[in-house]
Amino acid sequence: MIEDKNQLRTPLSELGEFGLIDHLTNQFEIKHKSTVKGIGDDAAVLNIEEDRIVVTTDMLVEGVHFDLSYVPLKHLGYKAVVVNLSDVYAMNAAATQITVSIAVSNRFPLEALEELYSGIALASKIYNIDVIGGDTTSSTSGLLISVTAIGQVKPDDEVYRSGAKPNDLLVVTGDLGGAYMGLQILEREKEVFKVNPNNQPDLDAYTYIMERQLKPEARKDIVKLLKDLDVKPTAMIDVSDGLSSEILHICKASHVGCDLYEDKIPLDPQVISTCEEFDIDSTTVALNGGEDYELLMTISQEDFPKIKANPNLSVIGYITEESSGAHLVTRAETKIPLQAQGWKSFNN
Ligand code: ADP
Ligand code: MG
Repeated sequence: MIEDKNQLRTPLSELGEFGLIDHLTNQFEIKHKSTVKGIGDDAAVLNIEEDRIVVTTDMLVEGVHFDLSYVPLKHLGYKAVVVNLSDVYAMNAAATQITVSIAVSNRFPLEALEELYSGIALASKIYNIDVIGGDTTSSTSGLLISVTAIGQVKPDDEVYRSGAKPNDLLVVTGDLGGAYMGLQILEREKEVFKVNPNNQPDLDAYTYIMERQLKPEARKDIVKLLKDLDVKPTAMIDVSDGLSSEILHICKASHVGCDLYEDKIPLDPQVISTCEEFDIDSTTVALNGGEDYELLMTISQEDFPKIKANPNLSVIGYITEESSGAHLVTRAETKIPLQAQGWKSFNN
């Protein structure tokens, strides 16, 4: 008989704190020689040798960053890891270790945390990272998950937001706006999910964008691609809050301006058709949607021949002097100032 995991409810109190930690973490194997000591002592121990160490943290809070009425816990675990790895890759670094901290209310049974950790384990496997520690505590309401990612980079290979120079090309990976439109679909279907969580509505026309929202991937492949192409971006950032806001971060940190060309922004056909269905402008979605976890970078003109044939990289504009400002050049060839309308958790 196949057991339905959702039907099993083992209260967390049955295991106790240490039993719970052990139960959730005994599946993790150490893969990197830089991990000297992983889970099981007061602290993990790393031996990174001559590389530089990159550290980043992101926290996801129920009701602020995710809604469990349509986000499966396995996907949440996966996404919590991926959003952190994305920040490591945006430094042009290799991600090697993570720690995972959770605060959880007693409305969650053990089986829910097993689902969460199966997503964490899957991401760790796919991205080849060691889970080396964390913390487990109770919460009076809801679920909170905080991941810290650690990465390595050769000295001088790291790429900051601050290195963009006038005339550099503005380049983005993949396509934009999918995660936001996926969220629109999920919000629309939320009532259906709420009434019957086991009901699977027909969402075939939206599979790509829903996956972009629920199971985003971080662009580990791009760090390798850039190395293979022998291209070191002058600046780089991951697209978590929307293209517009990320471009402005680079402009501000680098003291430059930019011209972004509307007709060059890469969009998936499913984003375009769903935008039409919702009567939303696809450029607005790409600029302000966020959560795409693509990489936005600036590249010296000299490197253009190396990247121009690559289907993963789209040139979407170029860097200008700071005094010119940051603009969107529309299809009608009018210039409008770029604005940071990125998603802000404090506006909720
Ligand atoms: P301490 O009380 O010394 O902080 P804990 O009992 O909290 O230690 O943790 C024991 C071990 O389990 C440590 O290695 C810690 O990093 C790890 N750990 C605790 N909670 C988690 C978790 N949610 N995910 C992964 N590792 C965890
Ligand atoms: Mg602890």
